[in-house]
Amino acid sequence: MEQTKAYWFFMNKAGDYEYLKHCPLCDSGEGFSLLFGCRDFLVSGESFSVTRCKSCGFVLTNPRPYARNTRQYYQSENYISHTDSDKGLMAKVYQLVRKKMLKTKLNKLKSLPIKSKNLLDVGCGTGAFLEAARSNGFQVKGFEPGEAPGKIAAEKGLEVMSREEELLKLEAGSFQLITLWHVLEHVPDFLPKMKLFHRLLSDEGFFFFLLPMHQSFDAGFYKNQWAAWDAPRHLYHFDEKSLNLSAQKTGFQVHEKFGLPFDSYYVSILSEGYKENLFGKFRALAIGTWSNLMAVSGKKPWSSEVFILKKA
Ligand SMILES: [Zn+2]
Repeated sequence: MEQTKAYWFFMNKAGDYEYLKHCPLCDSGEGFSLLFGCRDFLVSGESFSVTRCKSCGFVLTNPRPYARNTRQYYQSENYISHTDSDKGLMAKVYQLVRKKMLKTKLNKLKSLPIKSKNLLDVGCGTGAFLEAARSNGFQVKGFEPGEAPGKIAAEKGLEVMSREEELLKLEAGSFQLITLWHVLEHVPDFLPKMKLFHRLLSDEGFFFFLLPMHQSFDAGFYKNQWAAWDAPRHLYHFDEKSLNLSAQKTGFQVHEKFGLPFDSYYVSILSEGYKENLFGKFRALAIGTWSNLMAVSGKKPWSSEVFILKKA
């Protein structure tokens, strides 16, 4: 049903969307198979197709809005990673989880053998992570193309770049740490960007990604209503295989990975919201817990995983 709707939607509005004919990861022209249609519940109400590359298995949103049109899909009060609001239950949960996650991330950063504490956070949003890193003695810079969140970050006295040219001008090896928290899946030209970050990272530096994992238990349970599909904002849906291939193609290797246990609850609560189920909140707790247990036992990936890359 959803698949048919998504198909008709694109037949009617095809001119507004970019259809990728070649896989952005393996460059194959074999085409894509449709997995399912996925509605953008958060902002536009439009449906998008989640597809899989027939050659390498990379999962992506295709067709997708042209880069020039993507801004409108981020313009929502509901897009809370771009605000510091704590109004409403979900925003409160989000801020609580964010605090806890900040601590986990910082503890990990502090445990790494680095020579200096120069850090670049790409897609820094309102700068919550940068602020926390700064108060832990890191010298921080941020990059945020969104005007409103970038402004909030700048008001905190953070140095935040907004244009790509500013990144290109930075000296090679400037940073010991580069972090992208739930960002890579939003970046249309992710391979060239990973190459750029490879250049900006020092030889002994670490490159952090946090990604939603669509092979997790909670993703399987909620199917196309899993909140972390987040189409069309999420253009790519990485898994371990596609991440390894991306790393290999850009001069990196995976050094370590770990899961963030709170994300399964957060994503499950959001996914239940889409179903407007009275018992949804309780079920989300159960699904989030089960997802984490499956991850601990190694049967499934975590709902979100942090990958730490080093230069190969
Ligand atoms: Zn491919």
